[in-house]
Amino acid sequence: MTKNDNSKKTPLEKKLLFERRFCWEEWDKAKVQKAFAFADDYRKFLSNSKTERLVVRNLITKAEDKGFKQLENQKAKPGLKVYRANREKNLALAVFGQKPMGEGIRMIFAHADSPHLGLKITPLYEEEKVAFLKTHYYGGIKKYQWPATPLALYGTVVLKNGKKIEIGIGDGEDDPIFIITDLLPHLAKKQLEKKLEEAIVGEELNVIIGSLPIEDKKPKGRVKLGVLDWLNKKYGLVESDLISADLHVVPAGQARDLGIDRGLMAGFGHDDRCCCFAATESLFEAETPPLYTCVVALLDKEETGSESNTGAASSFVKDFVAGLLALENPKANENDLRDLFSITKAISADVASAIDPDYRDVYDPRNDPRLGAGVVLEKTTGARGRYFGNDASAEYVGWLRQVFDKKNVIWQPGTIGKIDVGGGGTVAIFFARHNIDVIDLGPALWNMHAPWEILSKADLFASFEAYQAFLAAS
Ligand code: MN
Ligand code: MN
Repeated sequence: MTKNDNSKKTPLEKKLLFERRFCWEEWDKAKVQKAFAFADDYRKFLSNSKTERLVVRNLITKAEDKGFKQLENQKAKPGLKVYRANREKNLALAVFGQKPMGEGIRMIFAHADSPHLGLKITPLYEEEKVAFLKTHYYGGIKKYQWPATPLALYGTVVLKNGKKIEIGIGDGEDDPIFIITDLLPHLAKKQLEKKLEEAIVGEELNVIIGSLPIEDKKPKGRVKLGVLDWLNKKYGLVESDLISADLHVVPAGQARDLGIDRGLMAGFGHDDRCCCFAATESLFEAETPPLYTCVVALLDKEETGSESNTGAASSFVKDFVAGLLALENPKANENDLRDLFSITKAISADVASAIDPDYRDVYDPRNDPRLGAGVVLEKTTGARGRYFGNDASAEYVGWLRQVFDKKNVIWQPGTIGKIDVGGGGTVAIFFARHNIDVIDLGPALWNMHAPWEILSKADLFASFEAYQAFLAAS
């Protein structure tokens, strides 16, 4: 590895100036190998976790392998590993620390949901002897990115008789895929003159699901019937069962290394499954027992505002911590929980946006993060006058940077773009409401919210190291 340019700086410059550090320029070979191995595990996880349910399911399997048990009926002792899932869409994991929970705990939150296409409530129809599924987009997507690209279908359907079935079509080697059509350029003159926002509208995001009619020539809609017949034979479902379903249309294909040197990774759902992975790994790999009780919680519905009973606005995480406290001290009450939160330190593990050289004009080059320059610490979030954002205190940031510097974690400060260009928030505000110290911390992406997002393996590993240092800090 080449030496950082820092070596050419004068002593006064080194002493006084803030400089971003770049992981690949500072890490030795052994560290680079570790980062690559870590990314390999993550790539497989990401490819197999295309919905929040699959994130939760796959991480429960891993947690149980690592000795985590369901919270209920356990006896608290330092080193005890417990978890609780919520409606298959949330997961909270904890390792009890040496100190009593009353001295505060460490928490990391990440979200398992990613922008995608959901289905409408009665989605199946036929036109021009082809059957389609009508979708309704979930989260902040750019609609024009979804036509003419291979798609897969995942989800859970509850049949009339109460039986639950799992669907996953599009990623198996011989699986068919699905596609949303786009207009041929020859006839697209008008479409191409439209604004990007209006060129593809939500009602046009219809997914081709089938094209063979049933043999019986009498009924109308024989292709739609053909699709239902196939679904019925395979899963036992009928059209009305699609009403009681959580079905997601997502990009088909495995996450892939990006670039000839494989330093980057392209995949669906880095936001925020890279943080789900790095945060849970940091807990799995933590020295046991940790000093403070450590909690990692995975939320749903972040991309649509954190509402609903699986979003950060629900009481799930609070109730989980109350459950931990009750294991430790059956007499603990609501006041004890509030006191505990008031001295708890937390990280909102979510992705940031790195300066993209093709779109420089929306970024502030002095304040926005760089790809490969380590985990991003966002002291403030929000939009316009920092509305609806989180603001971590000087004291908390001060404490955290000492934690990172002690462990030589490569981190960078960051914001999200130029003032008044846009902005954004995370789950941090929902935990700040419980009077918890919380800050946003995660890798910066390119292509955020696109079907294929781009992540640096260096930033992924730096984030893991940051979460590890945080959970172990005194
Ligand atoms: Mn996110
Ligand atoms: Mn997002």
